[in-house]
Amino acid sequence: MTFCASCGTALPSVPPVRCAGCGRTSYLNSPCCAGALVVHDRRLLLARRTIEPWAGHWDIPGGYCEPGEHPRDCAVRETYEETGLRVVTTGLHGIWLDPPGSSGSEAGTICVFYHAILAPTSAPDPFAVAGSSVLPAAGDPTGYGETSGIAWFEPSCMPARVAFPGSVPAVLRAWRTAVSQDHAPQPSADMAEPDAVPVTAAGSVRVRHPGRAE
Ligand SMILES: [Zn+2]
Repeated sequence: MTFCASCGTALPSVPPVRCAGCGRTSYLNSPCCAGALVVHDRRLLLARRTIEPWAGHWDIPGGYCEPGEHPRDCAVRETYEETGLRVVTTGLHGIWLDPPGSSGSEAGTICVFYHAILAPTSAPDPFAVAGSSVLPAAGDPTGYGETSGIAWFEPSCMPARVAFPGSVPAVLRAWRTAVSQDHAPQPSADMAEPDAVPVTAAGSVRVRHPGRAE
């Protein structure tokens, strides 16, 4: 059952349909999401979700665009909200469609992904406090309750459990292809190294260093 967004009257059928209560025509459009493929030292930043859908799975930082918000700005904002890291986008990675039903949206979701790098740190990183290497707990009122951990993954070592199988695996495959062909932007040599040190996440999630003893 779908209801009119203006007056709450139950709609007689799936949109597009005219509301009998107020006369407004309701449409069913795909909302827009945006995410950031943040690369540092040739590794990709992923965040582990604490909320449904796909709680416990690794995801590309991102989320729904606010009204009037450019997807690029959304990707930067959501990445900060979910990981505490300030990033800047360096280019468009691509646009994917999460099919109806797979993303929690009955109309599916249009997902815009950007390449991004860590920003030259101008603002303090909330996770880089007193050498802390643990993220706030899920549900922590200080924020980041949607994320239980973040980690940096080598292109050859992607996690098995990823969120939103309708789009994220394809996005990650395209990213690995871009990296292997050296198409993915890298921080330039003259960019100041960010103060924010990649953190190891709660729950024994480790930064991946294949071939390096940990
Ligand atoms: Zn109505």
